[in-house]
Parts: sequence; structure tokens; C-alpha cells
Amino acid sequence: MRHERTVDVLIVGAGPAGLAAAAGLAAAGVGHVEVLEREEQAGGVPRHCHHGGFGARTFAGLTGLTGLTGLTGLTGLTGLTGPGTSGPRYARAHVDAARRAGARVRTGVTATDWAGPRTLDTTSPDGLERLTARAVVLATGARERPRAARLVPGGRAPGVYTTGELQQAVHLYGQHIGTRAVVVGAEPVAYAALDTLRRAGVAVAAQVTAEARHRAEPWRAAGARLWHGVPLLTGAEVTELVGRGRISAVRLRHRGGRPAQLPCDTVVFTGDFVPDHELARRGGVPLDRGTRGPAIDADFRTEIPGVFAVGNAAHAVEPAAAVTAEGWRAAVSVRRYLLSGHWPSVVREV
Ligand SMILES: Cc1cc2nc3c(=O)[nH]c(=O)nc-3n(C[C@H](O)[C@H](O)[C@H](O)COP(=O)(O)OP(=O)(O)OC[C@H]3O[C@@H](n4cnc5c(N)ncnc54)[C@H](O)[C@@H]3O)c2cc1C
Repeated sequence: MRHERTVDVLIVGAGPAGLAAAAGLAAAGVGHVEVLEREEQAGGVPRHCHHGGFGARTFAGLTGLTGLTGLTGLTGLTGLTGPGTSGPRYARAHVDAARRAGARVRTGVTATDWAGPRTLDTTSPDGLERLTARAVVLATGARERPRAARLVPGGRAPGVYTTGELQQAVHLYGQHIGTRAVVVGAEPVAYAALDTLRRAGVAVAAQVTAEARHRAEPWRAAGARLWHGVPLLTGAEVTELVGRGRISAVRLRHRGGRPAQLPCDTVVFTGDFVPDHELARRGGVPLDRGTRGPAIDADFRTEIPGVFAVGNAAHAVEPAAAVTAEGWRAAVSVRRYLLSGHWPSVVREV
């Protein structure tokens, strides 16, 4: 038996984008705003990013928006502003801001399927529910493609992570990782993985990328190479993971075909994000072929009336300050829709 309820706005995902939208909507007094989060803790990805650098641009986003939106109460969010803070602090500030504004943020609740155009079925330790909303906001974030999706052959020995899995294992669960790692990727998230490995006491044998150069800020790449002594192997592809009881090496092919083998007991696949579009697909929300998230217009409207998508769910992957600003802008669009009921007949892709 499902317990059935109605709310005004249902937001799926309590990362920065969903929480910012919730704060904006609740502060504007749109009624019952409820956020569902499948994890035990709200806050999204920043919960397990223990490095700094979160929110540095939020203040600029806020000041740019307050003149435009007409929403009241956004100044309650200034706790998120400043030169940047650690991920967990940033996540907590977002959760506090949404709750202070009056949104209900529920954790341990997963939206599993649709029972109507704006009706979602959920599951949680408290049981099954069916929630119908006047508007639904998909803020389900993005995930890194795991090793299997990258078609890297080899055994299924333990010791293989994505950055998100690594950060959760280290920062949320305090698990032992290994002794010597290879990091696959050289974009900003790969450098976050290096930080996490360092904190976990894991040496890094090398960073490997098929590209000709890294794609991070020059100071980060130089710091890893010169300060921490991590070699960056460019133009090299991982061709196989070796090991049975545990990963023992990765096999590489350098540009030009020269093979190599790097001994290690841990491999971290970084970057290569895909919007978490599973729920959108189940609801028949058309996807954008470019972003692989729901196709949206400039007001975050999908092609299903009353259903919006925001943050990395719509376009992997942006800095937290950017998706926060999007969440606030989405709140304005949702509120306008609730007041007018207007939905364009064709939603233009952006
Ligand atoms: C390793 C790493 C390091 C990063 N470092 C930085 C940095 O230093 N600075 C910076 O600005 N940005 C950084 N980012 C980017 C930043 O974390 C993201 O831009 C931001 O978290 C995106 O917010 P979001 O709300 O769109 O998605 P997310 O933060 O991914 O939140 C989505 C939430 O939705 C939940 N969810 C998904 N599906 C369901 C469902 N069906 N039911 C219920 N809940 C659901 C998920 O559990 C998740 O909590 C980093 C990202 C990563 C992965």
C-alpha cells in the first residue's frame, strides 16, 4: 500500500541545485516545497569533497539575481558566499538555507518511478509513498562513468573506483583504500582524486590521460607534478586492468602503440560525467542528444508540462556555484509557471 499525498513543488535531489531551487521557492512562499534525497545526508556531491574551493562565485550569482527575481528572503543564503569553503561546509550551508526558508528536506527517500505526469512513487525505510505535485524539479545530478561503461577489459578484482566512490569510501566511511594508485584522467576532478588519495595515505604511481595535456588549472597540474611528484602520462590509454584477488597493475598503450605496465593496487577513473537521467527516462522526458540530460529551454522547462530539470542533471558537469545560481533561476521559472499555468507547446533545446 502506498501512502498518497500532494505537495506544491517536489524536488528530486538535494544537491546544490535542488536545494537552491527549494530555498528560492520556499522563500517566495509558493506553499509546500519538498525535497527528496536518497542518501542519508542531504547536500549532494560536496558532502564528500573535503577540499576547498566551493562557492567562490556564489556571491556574484546572488547579487546578479536579486535584482531580477523579485524573490524575497534570498539574503538568508549569504552564508554560502565568500572566497570558497570546503565541500561539507558548503553542503551544510545549502541544507540550512533551504530548511530556514521553509522547505522540507527529506533524506533516505528515493524517487523510483512515475505514476502520472507529475506524480512520483518513492521508497524509504518508512515505506512507500505516491506524491503528486503541481510542479516537479529534477535535480538528480550526474555520475562518473564507471570502469564497465568505459569498456576497459580485465578481471573484476577490487580496488577500482570512480572519484565519487573514492571520496565516499575515504571521507564518509573511513575505509582502507590501498597503497599505490593509478589515476585515469587529468581534468579538475582527477586532481580532487589525487587530494583524496593523499589524505588516505595512498601513493600515486601516475596519472594517465589519452589527451595531449591536462585540462585543469595550471597551478593544480604543476602542483601535482612538481610538489607531489605525480608523473602525468599524456597520450596514453588504459588497455587492461590486471589482477585477480586484487588489482596488481594497469596495462597502457602509449600513442604510437608502445605498451607499458604500471604496478598498482588501486585504480581511480575520474571525470567523464553523464547526467543521472534514469528517472527522467522512466518518465518519458525527452533527452538532449548533446548533454544526455533532459532537453530543457532557458527556463529549465522540459518537454513535459510542469516538469523542470536543473543542475548537473541537465548538463554534466559545472562548478557548484554555477548550479546554485541555476537553482535560484529555476525557482523563478517554477514560481512563474505556478502563477500562470503557462507552458510553451514546444520546448526549445538550449
Ligand atoms: C569529485 C568532485 C569534485 C568537485 N569539486 C568541486 C569544487 O572543488 N568546486 C566546485 O565548485 N564544484 C566541484 N564539483 C562539482 C560540484 O560538486 C557539482 O557541480 C554539484 O554538486 C552539482 O550539484 P547538483 O545539485 O546538480 O548535483 P549533485 O550534487 O550530484 O546532487 C544530486 C543529488 O540527487 C540525489 N538523487 C539522484 N537521484 C535521486 C532519486 N531518484 N531520488 C532521490 N535522490 C536522488 C543524489 O543522491 C544527489 O545527492 C566537484 C564534483 C566532483 C564529482
